[in-house]
Amino acid sequence: MRCTTGLPVLSSRGVQYLKTSAVGRLATSARLLIQGLGDLKPDDHHALDNLNIPPVDLNLMLIKNVSILQSSALLPGRDILIENGKIAKIGRDLQDENDDEVIDGRGKLAIPGLVNCHTHLAMTLLRGYADDMELMPWLREKIWPLEARLTEEDIRWGVKLGCLEHIRFGITCFNDMYYFPDAAAAATKEMGLRAFMAGVVFDMKPEFLSQAEPFIRRWKGDDLIVPTLGPHAAYTCSEETLQKVKEVADRNDTMIHIHLSETREEVDGFLLTKGKSPVEYLDSLGLLNERLAAVHCVWLSEEDCYLLAEKKANVVDCTVSNLKLTSGIAPLNTLMKAQVNVCLGTDGASSNNNLSLFEEMKVTAIVQKNAYHTPEAFSAEQIWRVATENAYRAFGLNMGMHEGALADLALIDLQRPWFYPQTNIISHLVYSMTGGVDTTIVNGKVLMREGFIPGEAEILEEAQKRFLHLTS
Ligand SMILES: [Zn+2]
Repeated sequence: MRCTTGLPVLSSRGVQYLKTSAVGRLATSARLLIQGLGDLKPDDHHALDNLNIPPVDLNLMLIKNVSILQSSALLPGRDILIENGKIAKIGRDLQDENDDEVIDGRGKLAIPGLVNCHTHLAMTLLRGYADDMELMPWLREKIWPLEARLTEEDIRWGVKLGCLEHIRFGITCFNDMYYFPDAAAAATKEMGLRAFMAGVVFDMKPEFLSQAEPFIRRWKGDDLIVPTLGPHAAYTCSEETLQKVKEVADRNDTMIHIHLSETREEVDGFLLTKGKSPVEYLDSLGLLNERLAAVHCVWLSEEDCYLLAEKKANVVDCTVSNLKLTSGIAPLNTLMKAQVNVCLGTDGASSNNNLSLFEEMKVTAIVQKNAYHTPEAFSAEQIWRVATENAYRAFGLNMGMHEGALADLALIDLQRPWFYPQTNIISHLVYSMTGGVDTTIVNGKVLMREGFIPGEAEILEEAQKRFLHLTS
């Protein structure tokens, strides 16, 4: 679908040939270039060589004849034009007048990418290492001793392995908290995913707190990585640490990502020592607000739920991890009745043990129905909104199937038995789907096409080597 007539320009995808209509889009770049030349003195020829002019990246793409979802209905035969990392247009019979990269969408459904609202991506390297234990013995006896041996290079490959899995599950963005955040951010960027990234902060390693603000400064303004703060939990950070975290967050306008009220022991401990629940305690430190992603929130009183709602804090539920570690079941129906913005995360792959938000949606909906003794609790449409719209709201992401939204998309192959008969597609996505993500696009770039991810074999091999070395 590429022609070789028109104006040749150098883009990051090599030489592209533009028709007249596309040339106008270059006007701004050209004007800047001419202004740069105008500043030169006539005899300053060498300065021309020193002008650092980046290649023009038009990043044009057209997805043809794809189905999209609109208010739960399947609309077939739509075209999606992507320009500079955003959805420029959705319509019928859009022409690839600029000889864009064309993706055949026939038989596929385009959905906005999913956001994994809580994970420790490098822990993908520890998958299957310690199963069938409760949270505290699991952490103390197995996870923390192994984590003490992790190197920066292990983090890099663990993150890459996790990115592969995210790409295969149609996840285009994730919210992470772990060690060596610079290595994690660089590996994520290399894989082409979007991430909200924090280095973990806790009192056992006081230097992590002082490293948090320089990390934020290094990554602020990046096109894919949004730096955040990740105090591990209220029981692993002192009051002083949490106050400093809040100061850094306020100063840099960043989100805070924390584990909260995960186990009954944690809540009992706070009630006993501080006379407050962990939620009330964080509120007393001024940490509850719309910039907070409070993860787990399994053991909440009704007052906690309404306090989280009043302060507009986001709650990230990780049902599978909570069930596997027998931490309990979060009161999601009560939280949603109180109008808390509830989102979904997988947690790390060592407590889940995969990174599938499709599985998370199904298990969460089914568990909530049982917790509230009614199949009417958590419909497929409701959990779909939790996994998509609520996540976008929590992280301020302009995502969805509309013009101007980020071109972070997944194409799902509908020609699979679990999508037939094609009745209620959202029900199929939530309750039936066991695979079929065909293509994943982030920021207008294809990361997986028809199931192929460049470099996957090397990542799998290196992950295996690193796991064996870590556990030897
Ligand atoms: Zn976690």
